Amino acid sequence: MSDVFDLTCELIARPSVTPEDAGCQQLIGNRLAAAGFNCEHLRLGEVDNLWATHGSGAPVLVLLGHTDVVPTGPAENWASDPFKPEVRDGMLYGRGTADMKGSVAAFVVAAEQFVAAHPEHPGTLAVLLTSDEEGDAIDGVRHVARLFSERGQGIDWCITGEPSSTATLGDLLRVGRRGSLSAKLRVKGVQGHVAYPDKARNPIHLAAAALAELTARHWDDGYESFPPTSLQVSNINAGTGANNVIPGELQVMFNLRYNPHWNAAQLETEIGALLDRHGLDYELNWHRSGEPFYTPEGRLRSVAREVLAEFAGAAPEESTGGGTSDARFIAPLGAQCIEVGPVNASIHQVDENVRVADLEALPALYRRLVERLLA
Ligand SMILES: [Zn+2]
Repeated sequence: MSDVFDLTCELIARPSVTPEDAGCQQLIGNRLAAAGFNCEHLRLGEVDNLWATHGSGAPVLVLLGHTDVVPTGPAENWASDPFKPEVRDGMLYGRGTADMKGSVAAFVVAAEQFVAAHPEHPGTLAVLLTSDEEGDAIDGVRHVARLFSERGQGIDWCITGEPSSTATLGDLLRVGRRGSLSAKLRVKGVQGHVAYPDKARNPIHLAAAALAELTARHWDDGYESFPPTSLQVSNINAGTGANNVIPGELQVMFNLRYNPHWNAAQLETEIGALLDRHGLDYELNWHRSGEPFYTPEGRLRSVAREVLAEFAGAAPEESTGGGTSDARFIAPLGAQCIEVGPVNASIHQVDENVRVADLEALPALYRRLVERLLA
């Protein structure tokens, strides 16, 4: 089998469930060092990160990925051991095949081939890997990006290998991601007997109108290729279990996925003002997962569109859908960011898989992107 296939299998055999790296980055670092890359292993907290560079100065092109995988769930639900790569009917099965050890292996092979063919290329080709993309993402790329900004490490272009394709390799080019903001709301009331409502304050009744307004609100009409901003309530809890007790408090969790019309601070202010208008006694805790980012038309996007069209046979759909990714931490450094990777139909699922033919094509696709930008 090919180099990229073998390396993918070696990575899958390492059970690197977040935030474990299980030796993946050592293996990759050794290979990139042998190809002439300068490798810096950044152990931050419990998290391994690898920063490997070839060449110097601008422009800086980063291939961004993660070596960690999500848990397998009960292994007996898999048709084969999730950490023993297995091919059936042209598909390679195993945890991380699509998200995203196949892409990471393809980065390595593409980078090796590129520097062998262009040892004196202009600028810097870099590979940045973390073992904390699927988890809290605190000591992963978020932390590395902070170090970069202290060091003055600029990044011009970033290609993330997240599985972006829908049906065939290269049919979708991710050009941005929505922001994500989560809230835990506690509305306080006064507990009491349902027969004596004048002696209690019912937090469910008090919050109902505010929640109705919050969930009915039209936030915007979308932005460029972004869908409209959306707020979803994910949890709501109140009550003692008894039918004759007015509860003392109500807890609500909600999340916003928002386009570049908004930033987290503006949304927090808007929602705080809405709750105040309803006269609620409340506590509100926010968690900012990442601001939206968007790569407008430019060199990276036009090169990627042409290269993907060569591979897929048609121009890709250009989209900002899906969850968020580590590119959210690289974009604020001033980088144009895109995401290109294999088909995402099975990611995070039982029997995660990648088409062997797609895996075999990936190194050439990444190498072509790098050559168009740096050679
Ligand atoms: Zn991923």
